[in-house]
Amino acid sequence: MNARDTLGRPLANLRVSVTDRCNLRCQYCMPERDYAWLPRRDILDFEELSALVDVFADLGVDKVRLTGGEPLVRRDLSRLVRMIADKPAIRDLALTTNGILLAEKAAELKEAGLGRVTVSLDTLDPNRFRELTRIDGHARVLAGIAEAARLGFRALKIDTVVIRGVTDGELAGLLEYGQRIGAEVRFIEYMDVGGATRWSPEKVVPRAEILGTLARRFGPIRPEPPEGSAPAERFRLADGTVFGIIASTTAPFCRACDRSRLTADGLWYLCLYGARGTDLRAPLRAGASREELKALIEGTWRGRADRGAEERLALRDRSPLLPVNTLKRDPHLEMHTRGG
Ligand code: SF4
Repeated sequence: MNARDTLGRPLANLRVSVTDRCNLRCQYCMPERDYAWLPRRDILDFEELSALVDVFADLGVDKVRLTGGEPLVRRDLSRLVRMIADKPAIRDLALTTNGILLAEKAAELKEAGLGRVTVSLDTLDPNRFRELTRIDGHARVLAGIAEAARLGFRALKIDTVVIRGVTDGELAGLLEYGQRIGAEVRFIEYMDVGGATRWSPEKVVPRAEILGTLARRFGPIRPEPPEGSAPAERFRLADGTVFGIIASTTAPFCRACDRSRLTADGLWYLCLYGARGTDLRAPLRAGASREELKALIEGTWRGRADRGAEERLALRDRSPLLPVNTLKRDPHLEMHTRGG
């Protein structure tokens, strides 16, 4: 039985950030020169993460997505994948990765039981990739996507952040690339979350504009029926190609949001925009029983009223969520810590 929050939203979808580290430095997520990292002693080991997933599963979570930072920089991640995939209550286990290490790790992840893979790819231009991420790794990402496609995961998606003047000229090209490789492309509106200190409203390309651009290139676009609480609205081209748009900035979907986020050091956030997390590490390490942890998590979820993106939309003058100094004081406010 799912726990429900104050808006009747079930606790169903848990995003587990396994590390705050990343091997890219994307301008829209980690634009600064230096970052404060989570102390290593606080990072939960796989047994601790697995124990928490069991408690969440007791309360109705049946979907887990591994995130970061970049989850594949965490050593031996396939061991955690196996531990979670073996839980009968978890019917969907997915991973979001930047793809840099995917080619070498995809086979062992699949063998361990990983079901779905989402790769972030914002450009097909290696030079633009280097400017955006500050790493020369475009060919490795494409190799990772190709290997994931070859292995045949249950689903393969490509997430593209659309930024005006940077990646907005690549919508059709990315969609065609997805068609060729067998991956569903999802276009994501640029969000003003923690870490996005260079965000501005002018850089957001709204859903309607994305659809207009694609319709001019591919002809009529039809909406697909909604898929549960999934954040992407899906559309279909006349040739059958399906793609998604995640309009978190201009048309947020908080009313159906069943997602919460666990950081690598065991803080639990009820919303991407949430200012404070619930510390699950301290009670876990102090020996709290499964029932005690369950009571803590259930009670917290029952009080949840978060609608971060909808509240941001209501603001008249919108600017980055947090200044750099605030982010530096608490790395938990960063998107790369709580998993975007
Ligand atoms: S802003 Fe918060 S409540 Fe709204 S969809 Fe995102 S995580 Fe869910």
